[in-house]
Amino acid sequence: MKEIYLDKNENPFNIPDTIKEKFIGYVKTSDFNRYPEKGLPSLIESLGKFTGLGSGSIIASNGSDELLDMLIKRANGNIVISSPTFEMYSFYANNYGNRVIDVPLKDDFSLNAGEIIKHRDAKLIIICSPNNPTGNLIDRESIKTVLESGITAVLDNAYYEFSGEDYKDLLKKYNNLIILRTFSKAFSLAGMRVGYGMSNPDLMSELKKLQAPFYMNILSAKLAEIMLENYGPVKDKINYIVSERKRVYSELKDIAYNSDTNFLMLKKDLYDYLATKGIHIRKLPLVKDRSRITIGTAEENNILISAIREYIKV
Ligand SMILES: *Cc1c(COP(=O)(O)O)cnc(C)c1O
Repeated sequence: MKEIYLDKNENPFNIPDTIKEKFIGYVKTSDFNRYPEKGLPSLIESLGKFTGLGSGSIIASNGSDELLDMLIKRANGNIVISSPTFEMYSFYANNYGNRVIDVPLKDDFSLNAGEIIKHRDAKLIIICSPNNPTGNLIDRESIKTVLESGITAVLDNAYYEFSGEDYKDLLKKYNNLIILRTFSKAFSLAGMRVGYGMSNPDLMSELKKLQAPFYMNILSAKLAEIMLENYGPVKDKINYIVSERKRVYSELKDIAYNSDTNFLMLKKDLYDYLATKGIHIRKLPLVKDRSRITIGTAEENNILISAIREYIKV
């Protein structure tokens, strides 16, 4: 039985061979005995160009997890989250002894912005959009309501590329906003650990002071840069995954929530059942009777759909 991994929202595709060749060329000529250039300016500059924001508005990190860690540590006080959401927020808050205030999403998974802004003493508000594990985008107006409070807010935008909703323009108006993105999903680089944040230059230089000068290894930084220079094939994979997501959702409508990401939350916990078929999905220990599937290749998705159909029939 071939095992299928649809549990971590990874991209089902490795990077193209042509890009691997470019990367190998870099590996062959690298001076591994030398430290990276302080602050990894070349990566920052590439991200500044790619996002159109300029390098002053960018910070990079070992996965966006590291930026979450840094921001939650820096907050040093109450953190507001909206469950069900990404579990790393509470993980880091607990590490630093920061109290987590949970203002759960409403029944339709929309943000309860009115309730969030009542927590005037909060040091950080974390909004995940599109949200993991529910898969939906958070409405722009409710995000603005939160930002109007003036409290520092992180918008975790890890699934941005699959969603078609860009919140970057909000950075112009709100200097308390930090948007986080990652190379782990759309860019197929989960194993390389590269993420980045976007915010106003003042906040970015303040955060950069908390960062070690050699915060990332040269290979991860270089491969991220190469991916930015070769966005065409990345975009093709994004389009493929989005069209597969739409197809899988239409096949599983009765048992799945719609999604703006590369995954679907199921209305049942099929973790154990699918494991017996060699299909590994995500159990959601904090969300009763639900589970989460990652969109894979068409072949993997077909195997998943048949397995679920078989289950629904019995
Ligand atoms: C996958 C994911 C990330 C990405 O984390 P990395 O450390 O960049 O790999 C961040 N936030 C959410 C909600 C995620 O699902």
